[in-house]
Amino acid sequence: MKFETKVIHAGINPDPSTGAIMTPIFQTSTYVQSKPGVHNGFAYARGQNPTRKVLETNLASLENGKYGICFGSGLAALDAILKLLEPGDEIIATNDLYGGSYRLMVRLYERYGIKMHFVDLTDPDNIVSLINPKTKIVWLETPTNPLLNIIDIKAIVDRTKSRAFVCVDNTFASPYLQNPLDLGADIVLHSATKYLGGHSDVIHGCVIVNNKELADKLYFIQNAAGAIPGPQDCFLILRGIKTLHVRMDRACENAQYIANKLLDFDLIDKVYYPGLTSHKGHEIAKNQMKNFGAMISFDLKENTQESATKIMENTHLFSLAESLGGVESLIGHPATMTHAAIPKEDREKMGMSDSLIRLSIGIENKEDLWQDLKVAIES
Ligand SMILES: *Cc1c(COP(=O)(O)O)cnc(C)c1O
Repeated sequence: MKFETKVIHAGINPDPSTGAIMTPIFQTSTYVQSKPGVHNGFAYARGQNPTRKVLETNLASLENGKYGICFGSGLAALDAILKLLEPGDEIIATNDLYGGSYRLMVRLYERYGIKMHFVDLTDPDNIVSLINPKTKIVWLETPTNPLLNIIDIKAIVDRTKSRAFVCVDNTFASPYLQNPLDLGADIVLHSATKYLGGHSDVIHGCVIVNNKELADKLYFIQNAAGAIPGPQDCFLILRGIKTLHVRMDRACENAQYIANKLLDFDLIDKVYYPGLTSHKGHEIAKNQMKNFGAMISFDLKENTQESATKIMENTHLFSLAESLGGVESLIGHPATMTHAAIPKEDREKMGMSDSLIRLSIGIENKEDLWQDLKVAIES
């Protein structure tokens, strides 16, 4: 099956008892047993739920993986991966990480004896001097947030040489644009809250792997720690996934159009979008992604927080909000919103200016979107 067919059909069959074409929401906490311990594979809903099972099968297929494991949020999924580690183990992670992932690794897991190394993984050779027998995970996101840096997944896998698990947070690309397992990664994570759900109406996370032993450990953690999604949320993700390719095609088309317009606009300083030939990761993105995604960042020649704030207060179609990946376009200010926890000088070191604005491009009419933005920038 090709991707566009898998989103509709992989793991999804009409309900055998009723013929319902859509996967039912099994809103139940437990299942009747015919004799003690004798049941149809479903004993208690923390461990197994049929709606969740269909979603896990579907997600595994979208990432060309064998096993999908679902969680109550993207961070709960990351938490489950971190629970694979023992005190003394080490992680090498990219330095411009999603803020919540950074917080979980540093504020919680360092307390349990996990040692973190944050480095710039746009240069894969940075792994070489850090990797050692205690390194258990090499963790990366690509494209990154909010500067849309591109990391060469295959080069990271080559440098790691199976000495640690390579984990890719594939949230920004979605499985439609990028499949890290095909490039040799061991673990893929999604905040399904974003493109997979696609409608800004549910929080959800998932992990996809090929290795059975690893999958069994993650299923064990899913049940033992219990950070599971409810069946209604699983249904909403299944529903969102059915249009993932169509939404993503339109959002990418819109983003490329708006990135080009921003590039030609004299009040703008830099535009960060991997689809621009001037972007330093453009060639790698072209090789490892099917298209360049729908996240854009840009900053202003008048590089102040006030000038950025004025734009964000003057858009009407772009709503000022955290998050991304929904059908509607969003605008945000990393320095005061998603990345406020990072000290100003560290932000500047990473290239994140005071006027940096981040856009999540939706699937509205691209000309309407550009007019809205243009008027706000000129205001
Ligand atoms: C949102 C996000 C997360 C966290 O996911 P939640 O579903 O909000 O817990 C992790 N990684 C990336 C890249 C994200 O954008």
